[in-house]
Amino acid sequence: MSGRLYLYDTTLRDGQQTQGVQFSAAEKAEIARMLDEIGVDYIEGGWPGANPTDSDFFAAAPQTQARMTAFGMTKRAGRSAENDDVLAAVLDARTKAVCLVGKTHPFHVREALGITLEENRDNIRASIAHLVAQGREALFDAEHFFDGYLDDPDYALSCLRVALDAGARWVVLCDTNGGTLPARIHEITAAVIAAGIPGDNLGIHTHDDTGNAVACTLAAVDAGARHIQGTLNGLGERCGNASLTSLIPTLMLKEPYASAFTTGIHPEALPRMVRISRRLDEILNRPSQRDLPYVGASAFAHKAGLHASAILKTPRPTSISTPNPWEIRASFPCPIRRASRTCVPVWPRPDWRSRARIPPFRASSIW
Ligand SMILES: [Zn+2]
Repeated sequence: MSGRLYLYDTTLRDGQQTQGVQFSAAEKAEIARMLDEIGVDYIEGGWPGANPTDSDFFAAAPQTQARMTAFGMTKRAGRSAENDDVLAAVLDARTKAVCLVGKTHPFHVREALGITLEENRDNIRASIAHLVAQGREALFDAEHFFDGYLDDPDYALSCLRVALDAGARWVVLCDTNGGTLPARIHEITAAVIAAGIPGDNLGIHTHDDTGNAVACTLAAVDAGARHIQGTLNGLGERCGNASLTSLIPTLMLKEPYASAFTTGIHPEALPRMVRISRRLDEILNRPSQRDLPYVGASAFAHKAGLHASAILKTPRPTSISTPNPWEIRASFPCPIRRASRTCVPVWPRPDWRSRARIPPFRASSIW
């Protein structure tokens, strides 16, 4: 297990499916700049043509190192890719990359689209080929892939193959309804690779309906996928998407990922993750979740009791296990942890032993 992992943020599209979330074009631009600051590889800006805000965003999208990506769907049956107005609106955004969602589950092809399996495959092939002919990097989001694979593996795989053969850079396995568990994600991802779809062209997109989106993403990486889709703070429809706010620190700090993989994330990105996570909550006008992994106010904090007693002696027993526990703490600039008489301040510094004996700070010091 080794290589480069590519991170694809979909906060501005899937994240906007969250109940009560409606970004303005200006807010989208600010979030895109924050994502670019940390070094994600792709920023999915939205679905141009599907709603005015997304079209406005693409009309004045910020210049980013990250590859700005427009989202859309494969062409409809009965018309050519060149004459599909929905696809044309997506291409009009003039992004370097375009991600198209398409069906891979026979049930959805027949029931939702009302077309034949062959027509659906033709739509995928023609749409991806059209993107490539326009000089765009093409990604194919295989909607409901895991359910489709269980129903008809040959058909689901054939949809991936036509996308790749047509020139797609990535085919992304989507657990669209969030119901697949990590072991099954690993099993199917491994089977897809064994069937001839290279891991270097394979992505993973998971939802958190069972609370396993991050675990499912890591399971796909373990099996060989090299492209990860997720959102800041795990924002997303229903219970959310895989959280990049959790995945990025995990990939950078936790083994075996830290040693096995490189990413485009800048080394100085981790200290910025707290600020970015909070800023997103400010934009959404909602309180920050204290218990978010790595970036929440309660991350690395301990109340009095066994854990606090232990951490006064050594941080190792109660902290996240890594070769160097300080690596994690030093990565997150939390100068003052929650401070009351029952809480122990946890210091992101190697001189924790002397610091930990300093009397607690006033509650007003809570950041
Ligand atoms: Zn999704």
